[in-house]
Amino acid sequence: MKPFAYVRALYAPTAVLAAQTSASKYLGGGTNLLDLMKMGVESPERLVDVSRLPMNGVEDRQGGVRIGAMAANSDVADHPLIRQRYPVLSQALLAGASPQLRNMATVGGNLMQRTRCGYFYDPSFAECNKRAPGSGCAARQGHQRMHAILGASDQCIAVHPSDMAVALAALDAVVEVRGPVGERSIAIGDFHRLPGATPEVDTNLAAGELITAVDLPAMPWARRSQYLKVRDRNSYAFALVSVAAALDLDGDGVVRQARLALGGVAHKPWRVVEAERALVGRPVDAATSRAAADALLNGARPYQDNAFKVELARRSVVRVLSTMARLG
Ligand code: SF4
Repeated sequence: MKPFAYVRALYAPTAVLAAQTSASKYLGGGTNLLDLMKMGVESPERLVDVSRLPMNGVEDRQGGVRIGAMAANSDVADHPLIRQRYPVLSQALLAGASPQLRNMATVGGNLMQRTRCGYFYDPSFAECNKRAPGSGCAARQGHQRMHAILGASDQCIAVHPSDMAVALAALDAVVEVRGPVGERSIAIGDFHRLPGATPEVDTNLAAGELITAVDLPAMPWARRSQYLKVRDRNSYAFALVSVAAALDLDGDGVVRQARLALGGVAHKPWRVVEAERALVGRPVDAATSRAAADALLNGARPYQDNAFKVELARRSVVRVLSTMARLG
């Protein structure tokens, strides 16, 4: 690991100030960044430790919820407001990592975690546009079982690893940030990027911006929401495919509103408005569920090793919707 400077910040403004030198990184729980530094994938010159900032609350905000960026994943998953109002988020958090990691990992860090593409993590592979821009993409000619089927580019076919972010996408969350020129709000759909020609850039954060909170809008019908994660083993594994869904049904079981997002399939949580429209005004049955899944997967472009993900995602969407329609 290369030598680096370490600064512990106690207030958000001083953290932002301390991170204004180039090659600074914010350190939260460190569950991803420290691994990347040990492997030589990341080599910041300065770490600004933000883990002590007073930003770990989970609070009611006019029927919605504000989650502090330093809140531990386990605390958010177990919080009564989250379990009652947004079960999809609690389930997604509990589906991620291991209990020990969830105790350390923060909400802000969860959003900032980097892809688990094996070629990205192993510098002995020279080709990785995300690690070394312009070097190529080893995954395209290598193993792509865990890689993207939607929104990829010739430069990168990696997927975003977060479960939490998929639930946040379905819930229309807003990411609050503070930077050198002030504060701003970023809709979760605009937070992560598709790889395009610059896969080394994961998010639309500006230089030096710090995540301070995540806001969940008031959404009473999100009580009927669910997260399904399909993976190779039942613990401590990243998603092959995941589905976050919320349904607002009338007394006859007809859909008033719907939210659907896929994980494990793209460089960001994958949400398609047409898929949700395919459900509105109709009962949830096999035909409407399949139509929604088809809309979500429209344009899927799998590779040799991950073609199975298309049908797996389709069946996962149908399963989640049919399960939720039966919930009281
Ligand atoms: Fe690197 Fe992306 Fe290719 Fe993986 S998929 S090797 S992260 S460029």
